[in-house]
Amino acid sequence: MTLDSARGFASLAVHAGQDPDAATGAVIPPVHFSTTYAQDGIGGLRQGYEYGRSGNPTRTALQLQLAAIEGGAHAFSFASGLAAEDTLLRAALEPGDEVLLGDDVYGGTHRLLSRVLGPWGVRLRVVDMSDPDAVRAAVAARPPRLLWVETPSNPLLRITDISGLARIGHDAGALVVVDNTFATPALQQPLSLGADVVVHSTTKYLGGHSDVVGGALVLNDDALAERIAFLQYAVGAVSGPLDAWLTTRGIKTLAVRMQRHSENGAAIAAFLEGNERVARVYYPGLESHPGRELAARQMSGFGGIVSVALESGEAARRFAESTRLFTLAESLGGVESLVNYPDAMTHASVRGTEAAVPVEIVRLSVGIEDAADLLADIEQALAR
Ligand SMILES: *Cc1c(COP(=O)(O)O)cnc(C)c1O
Repeated sequence: MTLDSARGFASLAVHAGQDPDAATGAVIPPVHFSTTYAQDGIGGLRQGYEYGRSGNPTRTALQLQLAAIEGGAHAFSFASGLAAEDTLLRAALEPGDEVLLGDDVYGGTHRLLSRVLGPWGVRLRVVDMSDPDAVRAAVAARPPRLLWVETPSNPLLRITDISGLARIGHDAGALVVVDNTFATPALQQPLSLGADVVVHSTTKYLGGHSDVVGGALVLNDDALAERIAFLQYAVGAVSGPLDAWLTTRGIKTLAVRMQRHSENGAAIAAFLEGNERVARVYYPGLESHPGRELAARQMSGFGGIVSVALESGEAARRFAESTRLFTLAESLGGVESLVNYPDAMTHASVRGTEAAVPVEIVRLSVGIEDAADLLADIEQALAR
């Protein structure tokens, strides 16, 4: 690749892995659908491509782009965020190993660990990762193999000091994993802050248009990358060519989208905070947010997710069902605004566990529409 990796984020997002097609000059590299590759004599592979599960040029292009935007040496793309997580956990853990998990991570991550990997002997402990004393105590009580954090967290937008967490983890010999789905590398770069592995659900902001499911891992460690590469090939939860291409197209506009998501998110958070029907607003850009200073230090913007506590579970459900421009739906990170009621939707699988979400909470994924229209919609929904 001819690209200078010292270039800025937006330039890397547009160009990394995206050299014009060598054969035709096509500025957008073609989508390669072929499942198999002609060999020049037995074993004579051109550029290493042999079979679609082991390698595909469209997936390679995405993986180069992912590595560049997260500032990592290795990137791997998968059929979903959870497929990426499963591959990482199997590459990094052995039966008997323990994972220390943040207490408000994505519900599916908790489910994967407790119900899929648990029966295979992986142990799980949950802690508030944004509280360094709690993490130090948990690590001292029994050193885990791996620390897993989401910052900002889902859905309460707690902020964890990534470099502080990396120090605690590394002192105990643990691998430090950051799910960077909410912030995206446009706003936060965990590897540069000391994390070992970055996880993404590219379904969210990286794809950015709610039209493709995918996941990714980015890291620097060569030995771990080799184990992940083997599992990606041997298990095969890879992105299909069209999925990889759609994700690549999404990433090209990530920098401008995150800027707009952050502007709209800040406007909505401020509006909600001033409303009498609202008990509490969770947004790292608000002065009232306990993690604001830390977020301002480790992020270059506060993002587009705003959570809000209403007066009761019933009020929260009614609000979530009353918006018109915000669509009631799971997921987040697309150009269109969505509203989610975590207790019964995204976090239903963790009801009754230590990762359960309070019933008063509604999560907004603020899109890139006109802020005035979004504010008017929130206002009419609160009035109902
Ligand atoms: C959606 C999500 C995941 C899971 O990703 P899928 O693409 O749905 O498998 C993991 N982490 C976070 C923070 C998410 O929002």
